[in-house]
Amino acid sequence: MAVQQQVNRFIQGIGASPGIVIGKAYLIERFKVRLPQKRIDPERVEEEVKRFFRAIEESRNQLTEVKEKILDPEVRKHSFILDVHLMILNDEMLLQDTVETIRKKKVNSEWALDLTLEKLDTAFQAIEDEYLRERRSDLHYVAARIFRTLLGKKHDDITKIKGKVIVVAHDLSPADTLQMNLKHVAGFITDIGGKVSHTAILSRSLGIPAVVGLEMATSLINGGDLLIIDGETGEVAINPTEEVSQSFLERKRRTRAIEREILKYASLPAETRDGVRVRLQANIEMVEEIFAAKAHGAEGIGLYRTEILYLNRKDLPTEEEHFQIYRRLAEEIYPATATLRTLDVGGDKFLPDYSKNNELNPALGLRAIRFSLKETEIFKTQLRGILRASVYGKLRILFPMISGVEEIRKAKAILEEVKKSMAKDKIPFDEQIETGAMIEIPSASDIADILAKEVNFFSIGTNDLIQYALAIDRINEHVSYLYEPLHPAVLRIIRWVVQAGHQAGIPVAICGEMAADPTYALVLLGLGLDEFSMTPVSIPRVKKLFRMSSFEETRLFVEQLFQFPTISEIKYFVRNWMAKRFPEDFI
Ligand code: PEP
Ligand code: MG
Repeated sequence: MAVQQQVNRFIQGIGASPGIVIGKAYLIERFKVRLPQKRIDPERVEEEVKRFFRAIEESRNQLTEVKEKILDPEVRKHSFILDVHLMILNDEMLLQDTVETIRKKKVNSEWALDLTLEKLDTAFQAIEDEYLRERRSDLHYVAARIFRTLLGKKHDDITKIKGKVIVVAHDLSPADTLQMNLKHVAGFITDIGGKVSHTAILSRSLGIPAVVGLEMATSLINGGDLLIIDGETGEVAINPTEEVSQSFLERKRRTRAIEREILKYASLPAETRDGVRVRLQANIEMVEEIFAAKAHGAEGIGLYRTEILYLNRKDLPTEEEHFQIYRRLAEEIYPATATLRTLDVGGDKFLPDYSKNNELNPALGLRAIRFSLKETEIFKTQLRGILRASVYGKLRILFPMISGVEEIRKAKAILEEVKKSMAKDKIPFDEQIETGAMIEIPSASDIADILAKEVNFFSIGTNDLIQYALAIDRINEHVSYLYEPLHPAVLRIIRWVVQAGHQAGIPVAICGEMAADPTYALVLLGLGLDEFSMTPVSIPRVKKLFRMSSFEETRLFVEQLFQFPTISEIKYFVRNWMAKRFPEDFI
């Protein structure tokens, strides 16, 4: 399909995987195959059923071959997507429903399968969860394969891409992506898709820049057009002028230089110049982020917010769902540890039919551990999932919003109950699994010395700790100017919690946003924290700063902060100290 040549045209999509790349467009033609609709003579119906099954068999062989041909171990890691496609090919409902339609309506396989797809589509559309709804595309990839096989049409031979290209497709199946020789792929752009579509997830974890959701890319772009894409901003320039190319490339050079310099620190140990070793870990909400976490040098997952499993759906996650997700996490991050925080709903995150009961003060309401201790069945299901997964790596459990000793004891008693019942059923689990308390309520920090005897570790959640200590609603923009990590009270609380934890011989972590800011991170280092958990991209920068510092100088610097009575004096002192000590990093 020839389209008019576009010059210096810009289209805007969704940045799905960061990076700026330039390259020739390689268009994957994905014309929707026209499906013949034929009636079948009654005596030929069984023959048609056989034809359908032959196409299924052949499609299965093709997919298995694709899977076997993947040699690159990095790419191989993602071949589970092909397993999902193989599972769809074996799906009872898909097969039986189509065969039944062939038999009852006496129609050809293409027509029957199309009718089945329509039904399944309706079912998918009712799903609220964005991730699961996106999986509908997998069903369509598989169906397209069956249709092509039925019609004897060739599949695009994308194994033969030459040179460095930007792949342009209406939609890109993960199977397609995995078949490509990725050495020749500079980037991907697609008409459809969102941030959690498989293509987006896959390109992020493969580190290939991608822009999705461009709507018109395949109609506006011709094969061979010169493209520049920015996977961060979602911009795509078609046949750019020299001037535009240069400005993109300049942007690329600048971000690259900074990133390259910073990324060098990803794989280095988080160790100060005087040999104090701390752990920099990642906060993640989706298992897929684990690749980014590792690429940025995370030494474990310091906070996995399990809420995502519960939100945007009508039912509750099953024990099996919990197990599968946590097992992947445990396996992927091994030999490092993943910290799973039990459900933290309430506040600004609600479960349908439960905690939304119009609480006047949701932040002070039935949140987090309070909810779990009330809805014990929901809690036990999650704990069983965690325990079952615990034998596949190193997991630890973190209880959110602990306000006193009673809560931690109750939570641990329920955990013991679950362990006992699993032992009785001979289900293996890590008997030594560690438990920790989030320190995010002033009553908990006040009794940190007592609480420390009940758990294996602390994790300070400054997002909430600041909210509760300073009485500032963290989501209320009118008081956000008061939300201040360097408030003397916050510094004193953290200092005390670290001291109490260390006196009891347990490590103290921080997993609030505060840890991701290099300035605050340095203050936290001086306060003696052992583990820092943050969004993956912040890890290398913080690591760099830690490696440039000595613990002793940081400790002395932080000690001085306690002489100031006001936040502004503390900030002024910190800013000046940083600018003097790290003139190139803090201007
Ligand atoms: C915190 O409160 O600091 C924290 C890490 O938890 P969340 O932001 O999920 O409440
Ligand atoms: Mg919190």
